[in-house]
Amino acid sequence: MDSPDTTTTDDLDALPVTVLKGVGPRMAGRLERLGIRTVQDVLFHLPLRYEDRTRVVPMGALRPGDHAVVEGEIDLAEVRFGRRRSLLVRISDGTGSLTLRFFHFNAAQQAGFIRGTGIRCYGEVRAGPTTAEMIHPEYRLIESGFETPVEEHLTPVYPATEGVHQLTLRSITSQALHYLDNAASGRLPDWLPAQLIAPFRMTTLPAALRYVHRPPPQASIELLVEGRHPAQQRLAFEELLAHHLSLRRVRLRAQHTRAPVIAGDNGLVGDFITSLPFVLTAAQQRVFREICDDLVRPHPMARLVQGDVGSGKTVVAACAALTAVEAGYQVALMAPTELLADQHYRSFLGWLEPLGVGVVWHGGKSRGKERAGALQAIRDGTAAVAVGTHALFQEEVEFERLGLVIIDEQHRFGVHQRLALRDKGRSGEQRPHQLVMTATPIPRTLAMTVYADLDTSVIDELPPGRLPVNTVVISQERRPEVMQRVRAACTAGQQAYWVCTLIEESEALQCQAAEKTAGFLAESLPDVSIALVHGRFKPAAKEAVMAAFKAGTVELLVATTVIEVGVDVPNATLMIIENPERLGLAQLHQLRGRVGRGRDQSNCVLLYQPPLSETARARLSVLRDSNDGFEIARRDMQLRGPGEVLGTRQTGEMKFHIADLLRDEALLAAVEKVALQLLESCPDHVSPLIRRWLGDAVQYGEV
Ligand code: ADP
Ligand code: MG
Repeated sequence: MDSPDTTTTDDLDALPVTVLKGVGPRMAGRLERLGIRTVQDVLFHLPLRYEDRTRVVPMGALRPGDHAVVEGEIDLAEVRFGRRRSLLVRISDGTGSLTLRFFHFNAAQQAGFIRGTGIRCYGEVRAGPTTAEMIHPEYRLIESGFETPVEEHLTPVYPATEGVHQLTLRSITSQALHYLDNAASGRLPDWLPAQLIAPFRMTTLPAALRYVHRPPPQASIELLVEGRHPAQQRLAFEELLAHHLSLRRVRLRAQHTRAPVIAGDNGLVGDFITSLPFVLTAAQQRVFREICDDLVRPHPMARLVQGDVGSGKTVVAACAALTAVEAGYQVALMAPTELLADQHYRSFLGWLEPLGVGVVWHGGKSRGKERAGALQAIRDGTAAVAVGTHALFQEEVEFERLGLVIIDEQHRFGVHQRLALRDKGRSGEQRPHQLVMTATPIPRTLAMTVYADLDTSVIDELPPGRLPVNTVVISQERRPEVMQRVRAACTAGQQAYWVCTLIEESEALQCQAAEKTAGFLAESLPDVSIALVHGRFKPAAKEAVMAAFKAGTVELLVATTVIEVGVDVPNATLMIIENPERLGLAQLHQLRGRVGRGRDQSNCVLLYQPPLSETARARLSVLRDSNDGFEIARRDMQLRGPGEVLGTRQTGEMKFHIADLLRDEALLAAVEKVALQLLESCPDHVSPLIRRWLGDAVQYGEV
């Protein structure tokens, strides 16, 4: 295959940006903040949007909202002293007139606006009191008799930063494009061999870059704005490919790493399964088999188990854990919060101790004897299973023979965190197997980009007899009614959650709100046994409350979103969520998943604060109308974007220059195909391609 050989100094990815005119050391420093170091980086610094300055639009044809170039003569300039002093300049071109409005102006500027002078301006058109207006347009006065040329291309608008203006960016991109067009001055390596992408009939890389930086005047601005032009799609394809490859490479490396071979006669697992009060669903059995198939291989498993809320992932995790224990290995089970870790600890203790398997708890807040005891048991191997938070992966925790790491509710951890965990618990040449579980169903697009390093299993079935949660959307104005409903449920022997939400960043405020609500509810419902739990509770206090709720002595649990994941009390059949309009759909679905776990019909009340915006209404309806986590996640992505769906921690990692996971879904089949072929036929192209799009900072798998 014709491959660009080793990088020469002529290659644009090695040519420093300082070769460009106007870029001295100071400017180079500023450009670095935009991730621009080489001429190649300039070419891949892509426009955010475009302005059309290629034609002069007759004033008579302007409509509010248009961004346009107009040209005419000045009729009148006057200062108005209204609520705010402003300079109004009336101009006309024979087809209509337009008012330019300046709030900030100086005397020289004002003096320049002489009746009869020619003027050209660019700006956004708005409806004004008498004529259409432009507020603070860019403008230039024109001497009569001179024809001022319009722009030849749509004007790109680039992501900028302090001290780097659009004009600078336009100038350096023009120069970089010049390099691109002159093979003698440098070469842009194309890491995708023509044969590989020929079937997809894509624009060539140089043509795509030229087009997106300098679209011709006839280009469809709508197509460009949407990012659907073939030139943009060519680049989006390459960007998705780079992300996909960076994770895929992690997976490939795992195949060169050793892991313990875990095979047993499954006697222990058999005992466990028979001890359960239910039969595993077919989906649970299938996923467990997939896990076992991985564990017998001498390479580390990296498997993602997806399963909607309540599909029974924990039991499957326990089966996997027992398989490892039976083969003589230790297991670490990590959850994102202390509350959830504690729940798992209790479940595992209940299930595994009767089988003679030692289980310990270790979290960041463990202290004293408990902590020392757990660390010792982990070190000497008496603890076969250690359950806890990320504290399990701190240095002082030494496992005797760690064979399997299970991470629950993976979406709470970022990609980097997950990858970093892979190397923890390595002993000598061996690495433990890794199983990650998530209840946030991930649309395929996201999975391919964010989880390409993992194999996936799906528990696509709920335990039998589950009734979908019945969800209603009710205004705060009907709060008393809702409270009576809670009371009725509790009197009838059922249990309920009352979830208080606030803007997420402020945990303190959230806790305060929950305290207030709990106080108020306790006063108004004296015959209901109420308890409160939130993020600021000490672990022991939290555990005590949860245990009381589980035992049924607490009937109504007032909580913040700390109970979002994992909490499992099948007798709870009613959930009230206050201000649901503030939360994402995936998060609401998670919360709602705390009910509907038993055989009784469960209900969820979304108690919103009116007035509700159109979008908020639409979002809550999605939840009311569907109990399917995949469908909800999909709609959530459409409404809020992929970063949000994955949780705030991941947004920083999901920044794309040009690709859009939702819009570009159609490219993914090709991305996957080309990725495999490239790894096969030109493995040496992979690293430079990843570097081009992800930079040096985010080289996954280098962690
Ligand atoms: P999630 O997938 O949300 O983590 P859990 O593992 O917490 O779900 O399981 C939810 C509830 O369903 C638990 O009470 C669990 O004991 C129960 N459960 C799990 N598997 C089955 C099954 N096959 N049949 C009946 N109940 C089950
Ligand atoms: Mg769970």
